[in-house]
Amino acid sequence: MRIKIPEDHPRAESLHIREKLIKGFETGVVACAGLIAHGRGEAFDYLLGEKTTPSAMEAIKAAVATLLTAKNPVISVNGNTATLTPKEIIALAEVTRAKIEVNLFYRTAEREETIRKLLEEAGARQVLGVGEDASACIPELGSERRRVDPRGILIADVVLVPLEDGDRTEALVKMGKKVIAVDLNPLSRTAQKATITIVDNVTRAMPLLVQTAGKLQNEPREKLQQIIQRFNNSENLSKCISLITERLSELAAKGSFLDLPKEE
Ligand code: ATP
Ligand code: MG
Repeated sequence: MRIKIPEDHPRAESLHIREKLIKGFETGVVACAGLIAHGRGEAFDYLLGEKTTPSAMEAIKAAVATLLTAKNPVISVNGNTATLTPKEIIALAEVTRAKIEVNLFYRTAEREETIRKLLEEAGARQVLGVGEDASACIPELGSERRRVDPRGILIADVVLVPLEDGDRTEALVKMGKKVIAVDLNPLSRTAQKATITIVDNVTRAMPLLVQTAGKLQNEPREKLQQIIQRFNNSENLSKCISLITERLSELAAKGSFLDLPKEE
């Protein structure tokens, strides 16, 4: 850590996350634009009250049920996710039998290798999508994220894409895949186009996905399918947007928000 963050600082947690990302940037894992993307996420986290909402928890359960019933689940990893939750990526892959694939918007051979190393050091047995391994292409996609591994995302039926780009979410859905996104912005194209959108910070959502997968892994298939059927993504997104609206109205009525306690 480059600076000492006082533990009683009101924004200590958020500052710790920033420090992790800055370190990730300095070690070549996080792209410069990844820092900006995180800022956009933080703004929405502020509006949501910086906690996992009941709607996000519903989406997490549906996501886990979808991963557990998938034939070929894949977790797509970018620089920010690799930096923030490496252990959780691996734990979730283990319990859901998912493959792990590196997929970067700002793709360089060096960054891919650095991320592969980071994941392997955290315990990953196999990391797909690095270098020549990403020899297949997602149709209709211009960015470097179109390159995918023929053993991974190309043949996946379910792809978990924490921190996704809208274009790629749409392209993956068009290929017939179920896309699970984690995005704090319920208005983004990613959030709107994904099959299941978890509107939560990836730092809170990933541990909860692991925990929920542990709880649901031995449930009968019918029960998991019921969870999936009961979930409606556009309704869930509406609830997230309503929550922000209600929270803001409440704060506006109060006139001051600095002393407003976080609701439990
Ligand atoms: P889209 O491409 O989906 O239309 P965008 O272009 O606005 O969205 P990007 O820059 O592609 O956004 O990706 C950043 C997205 O990731 C933002 O929507 C932001 O809310 C989200 N994000 C950033 N950091 C986090 C985080 N830690 N947890 C959850 N979401 C995050
Ligand atoms: Mg985008």
